[in-house]
Amino acid sequence: MAETAKTHEFRAEVRKVLNILTNSLYTNREIFLRELISNASDALDKLRFRINRGESPAVADLPLEIRITLDKDKKTLTIADTGLGMTEEELADNLGTIARSGSENFLADLDSCEPKEGEEGNKADASNIIGRFGVGFYSVFMVAEKVTVTSRPAFVPEGADNAAHVWSSDGLGTFTVERVEDKEPSRGTIIVVHLKENALEFAEKYRIDSVIRNHSAFVPFPVFVDGEQANTQPALWREPKTSVTQEQYASFYKSLTYDGKDPFDVQHISVDVPVQFSALLFIPATSQDFFGQDQDLWGLDLYTRRVLIQHKNKDLLPEYLSFMKGVVDAEDLPLNISRETLQENALLRKIQQVLVKQTLGKLEKMAKDDVAKYEEFWRLHGRVFKLSYRDYTNHERVCALMRFNSSALPDTEAGKEALTSFDSYMERAKEGQKTFWYVAAPNREAARLSPHMERFRKKGLEVLFLLDPVDEFLMENLGKYKEWEFKSIETAADDALKDFADQEETPKEQQPPLSAEDSTTFDHLLGYVKEILGERVKNVVVSRRLADSPAVLVSPDGMTSSMEKIMRVMQKDDSLPVRNMEVNKDHPLLRNMLRIYKANKEDPFLREMTESLFDACLLLDGYVKDPQLVAARTRALLEKSASWYTEVMKV
Ligand code: ADP
Ligand code: MG
Repeated sequence: MAETAKTHEFRAEVRKVLNILTNSLYTNREIFLRELISNASDALDKLRFRINRGESPAVADLPLEIRITLDKDKKTLTIADTGLGMTEEELADNLGTIARSGSENFLADLDSCEPKEGEEGNKADASNIIGRFGVGFYSVFMVAEKVTVTSRPAFVPEGADNAAHVWSSDGLGTFTVERVEDKEPSRGTIIVVHLKENALEFAEKYRIDSVIRNHSAFVPFPVFVDGEQANTQPALWREPKTSVTQEQYASFYKSLTYDGKDPFDVQHISVDVPVQFSALLFIPATSQDFFGQDQDLWGLDLYTRRVLIQHKNKDLLPEYLSFMKGVVDAEDLPLNISRETLQENALLRKIQQVLVKQTLGKLEKMAKDDVAKYEEFWRLHGRVFKLSYRDYTNHERVCALMRFNSSALPDTEAGKEALTSFDSYMERAKEGQKTFWYVAAPNREAARLSPHMERFRKKGLEVLFLLDPVDEFLMENLGKYKEWEFKSIETAADDALKDFADQEETPKEQQPPLSAEDSTTFDHLLGYVKEILGERVKNVVVSRRLADSPAVLVSPDGMTSSMEKIMRVMQKDDSLPVRNMEVNKDHPLLRNMLRIYKANKEDPFLREMTESLFDACLLLDGYVKDPQLVAARTRALLEKSASWYTEVMKV
């Protein structure tokens, strides 16, 4: 009773896809196996679902599994599943048309690079597109010259017979479906892939094992390759939290990241509303250089029902949490969703919101319960976390998690500077204070030595020490925290601290105030200093911010010196900034200059002093334009003062 095979035409859109797949050189051909395995896994899933509902399938005691067998001589790869199977109609319908969004997008994109009339076919472009889309079952024709799909349904409608049918095609214009008397499969589907000459690598076990490791390691049914199970890792993120040990987490983390160290922390998330997904997130115990060479390495692995969709997906986390590693498994994503569609996917945005919320919650708890651990976290990943200034939705929460060194904290070893939060700073602040004061410096010592610190020290006002070059930029972008502003002590107005009393009586002897006449002469002196410095300074004026230093440079436009430096680096400007020089008229050095000036305006020593004073100011801000010149001037002054010293002290 040999029934003739029914020949069907592929639908036009399928022909188009097939044409590209069979004719394009494709570098990532191995994903065909991911597609076949996930189809098999889906078929097993559907079967299991119906069994759980109480239905009984054909050959009820057959295990739910996927078997791949390789035959180098026959040049075949065979993949068999004991899943739901397909009827004759289903074979023709499911494997003859395209009904999925992934392939539709694929087609739409394909149209845009179809060769125009008279043009050569644009193969490079086409293969590029295939690289970005999964195209389901048809991707098998990238490696196959012929494919047969033999299937026997697990559930047969009453009255119908449960014969197997075979679908067969070379992926060109047509396919056939016919009834067969084969015993196998007794339930489910067997797909025989007749490999192209240039795809024989897929008859090698090591190759198939590695493809499974890369793309299908967590498929929820056993996958055997020539009798040996290839997917041995359980999808830990899908396990109940209580059943997973720390060791399991650690070994999963290591196999995921190739990091030799245990993770710093683990977060196992399983959520039903507003989206159903599970995730396993790790905070690594090592920092990566996210602002340099590791810039593109971040992202989470995105799965749907244990099948990998995308490595290093960057839409699941905001950049400021990019130090985290791990996987997200979303329940309702189509397997073949394109990157483009993923990016616009509202589901991913919702997942991101949940991940952010949970992670912030986790960090808040750590900061509260285990300060030492949180500070360690901050030293590892704080630099990246600071990018959270862009998260306006969670502004208060991210600000509360930031940490900085400050003048109120004790000295500790470099690299392990003590840390304060904004909230602790506020608790220590003076009555009526509404500003977080900060100064940027390369280290604590330099911060403390800043001449701008003097009046803050006098008032006993705490100043945050920003020791990371990005910090000042961060402060400028934070806006406000709990109604408090962030301000640099360098740009503080003259009267900014008038409401705060001096802390202690200044025990140092005060210089008597200048007489009216001396005041006028002092102004002339400043004019002369300006004349000496010429275009190098904008103006020379009396300072109200200095207590112990003789002089300081202040930007006339309210920019701090470190900010100015960053701008200059960015603009590749290596000239020195032109700023106001503010001098302390009560400083002994300035008083002596005044004396010399009164005695002889032309005294060359005045010029030397002025130059050295200016050198020192520039040095304080980290500028050494002409080190030879500065050294020579310092040496000349030292020589002179040493000979005066020996003379005066009679040594
Ligand atoms: P998708 O899996 O996204 O639906 P595919 O092109 O991969 O698209 O598969 C098309 C359809 O063919 C599937 O939806 C399914 O109905 C059917 N199919 C493919 N492989 C199998 C299989 N091993 N068992 C049962 N049905 C299958
Ligand atoms: Mg599929």
